Amino acid sequence: MQSDETSETRIGTDRAKPYECRTCGAGYALEYYVCPECGGFSVERRYPVN
Ligand SMILES: [Zn+2]
Repeated sequence: MQSDETSETRIGTDRAKPYECRTCGAGYALEYYVCPECGGFSVERRYPVN
């Protein structure tokens, strides 16, 4: 579904959601220990929040 979406595009269009699941690519405004979408444990900040 998101295979042709680049990470640059997501950062540019989704700045209110600095966290991203490395497994399914879902973006979140908050950091999750477990991704609500896919259950993965790889929700990480995609860029520094300053
Ligand atoms: Zn996920």
